[in-house]
Amino acid sequence: MAFDYAPAPESRAVVDIAPSYGLFIDGEFQEAADGRVFKTVAPASEEVLSEVAHASEADVDRAVRAARRAFGPWSALPGAERAKYLFRIARVIQERSRELAVLESLDNGKPIRESRDTDLPLTAAHFFYYAGWADKLSHAGFGPNPRPLGVAGQIIPWNFPLMMLAWKIAPALATGNTVVLKPAETTPLSALFFADVCRQAGLPRGVVNILTGDGSTGAALVAHPDVNKVAFTGSTEVGRQIARTVAGTDKRLTLELGGKAANIVFDDAPIDQAVEGVVNGIFFNQGHVCCAGSRLLVQESVADELLDALKRRMATLRVGDPLDKNTDVGAINSAEQLARITALAEAGEAEGAERWAPACDLPSTGYWFAPTLFTGVTQAHRIAREEIFGPVLSVLTFRTPAEAVEKANNTPYGLSAGIWTEKGSRSLWMASKLRAGIVWSNTFNKFDPTSPFGGYKESGYGREGGRHGLEAYLAPAGPQGDRAGTTS
Ligand code: NAD
Repeated sequence: MAFDYAPAPESRAVVDIAPSYGLFIDGEFQEAADGRVFKTVAPASEEVLSEVAHASEADVDRAVRAARRAFGPWSALPGAERAKYLFRIARVIQERSRELAVLESLDNGKPIRESRDTDLPLTAAHFFYYAGWADKLSHAGFGPNPRPLGVAGQIIPWNFPLMMLAWKIAPALATGNTVVLKPAETTPLSALFFADVCRQAGLPRGVVNILTGDGSTGAALVAHPDVNKVAFTGSTEVGRQIARTVAGTDKRLTLELGGKAANIVFDDAPIDQAVEGVVNGIFFNQGHVCCAGSRLLVQESVADELLDALKRRMATLRVGDPLDKNTDVGAINSAEQLARITALAEAGEAEGAERWAPACDLPSTGYWFAPTLFTGVTQAHRIAREEIFGPVLSVLTFRTPAEAVEKANNTPYGLSAGIWTEKGSRSLWMASKLRAGIVWSNTFNKFDPTSPFGGYKESGYGREGGRHGLEAYLAPAGPQGDRAGTTS
């Protein structure tokens, strides 16, 4: 479908991307020891944005050493002093939010409206929130003398590069740890710009180190003997490998992995509101969301009505240029991810589900996938079981709340779920039965730094956000190892 909206592109000129970037180690941008580099590409145009250093084991070692040197003085700072740095980082992010939002949309492919209104505000909010904790740790039930763990090795995916960075770095710094963070190979730029934010905020050298690279860089970071804590967000498959590496060491581990969330619509839900929630649940960020509502469970009596309304709404979604402020659905992050989504959608058809997508003019360059709906899906179909991580919704029906619970829980994952009903008692009953770390009622994809986030089952363990997010970075109360400093 051709759209008659007036394009209103955000200016690419607000961000100045250098032709190449080094690794951020000990407060300086440095070349990789072996000189290796890789290119980062804008998924909407396939334009090479920059060439970035590729960290190897030697670089991991340099970065961990820098973080270890910084740990003593950083953890010895009074909490109120650490808070000042975190507040400063939050404020610099706010000041530079337009630039960072454009950068994030260019490197990731997400609509500027989302990076501007969701990613950036939530990134800053995370630093503000954990800044507020830094001087209150001794009064928050962590024992009289809470201690940081040491050096945290943090590995993040490409779907919310800055937000995932904030979820990892803010609680680690607030509790007095130092970090070595590895962004995903398809979205390295915003983490490198964040390094510059740290310099601007006057953060002492070595407290935050950023290593760009691929899975081999991540694996070397996980295996480094002087890393005390590993925090990983990514696929369940890589999470398993990391758990095996960490097993039998004294490293602490948190894993935030995949999901296959059910978005459950009851017959008493206001249809228009539910449709918006379903659309937001699966098409926000092109469905590249670990808690995406990728399975719609709709009560049989309203299924036809809901699906008609859903298709009408999907036909209005504008797919295209991520920098256009009118865009609802941006580019798929990489050719590899596009191939994965395409293969799973083809499996859906081959297994007998019915595929539907609105007519949609997709740009001829870049990586694109039209918002897609599958009906006639059974629980045996791959599209009902496997995480697609793309704009593809599988529709199943149910008759009773008990059947909805059974179908929603019929997955190895357990990250999130959504319920749409006017009945509060039903929402509470469903929430108590659903095996999901987050259950939204009459809303979806709502994130807040005050709320813990994390999964059950193969969606991982540990919680990020809220007070729970601090626990992952503090030594258990009791006799401490000699490497741990004190924190307040
Ligand atoms: P991925 O697991 O392939 O990669 C994630 C990160 O791990 C990247 O930085 C990658 O370079 C690194 N990595 C790859 N192999 C590694 C190894 N052997 N050792 C250490 N690090 C390694 O995942 P992805 O494709 O980038 O992201 C998509 C996945 O992330 C989805 O499954 C999604 O559900 C999940 N995710 C989960 C959450 C959550 O909070 N639960 C949030 C966002 C994404």
